[in-house]
Amino acid sequence: MSEAIVEIPQNPKPVKVGIVPCNGEEICAGSITRFACRKVLDELRKGQAVTLCLPLFIAGDKGERQFATRFPTITVDGCEKRCSAISTEKLSGKPAYSFVITDMIKDAGLELSESPRTFSESDKEAVDLVAAEIAKKVDEILGQEGDE
Ligand code: SF4
Repeated sequence: MSEAIVEIPQNPKPVKVGIVPCNGEEICAGSITRFACRKVLDELRKGQAVTLCLPLFIAGDKGERQFATRFPTITVDGCEKRCSAISTEKLSGKPAYSFVITDMIKDAGLELSESPRTFSESDKEAVDLVAAEIAKKVDEILGQEGDE
């Protein structure tokens, strides 16, 4: 009797990327991660990325954790404590890419304000800069040319 040949898909190309901002509220850079991620999701790469809620993820929500095991993730942290990258790696799997935004902002010569709630012009520029870098990484992971 002959056996049926079953084709097993080999690493199918991802269709979406999960972005996990650290959601830090205590410093401006923590808020910038959240706003930059929102810009990618709503404007720059609409439909190609989804966000994961870090607190829900840490709390053990099955849906959030399953997403992160099935799709590549980009973590975006506001400081060297790397809350998002560490949690994602521990609870789900190694992120495809991890940003710590402080160096990127410093390299661009931007000074962040002290306030995590009221953004200065420089803070807004930092949001745009971080969002653009995340969008580039989404393109790289999905294997596509960037829109901008
Ligand atoms: S990475 Fe830094 S800014 Fe973000 S939540 Fe953790 S301590 Fe706060």
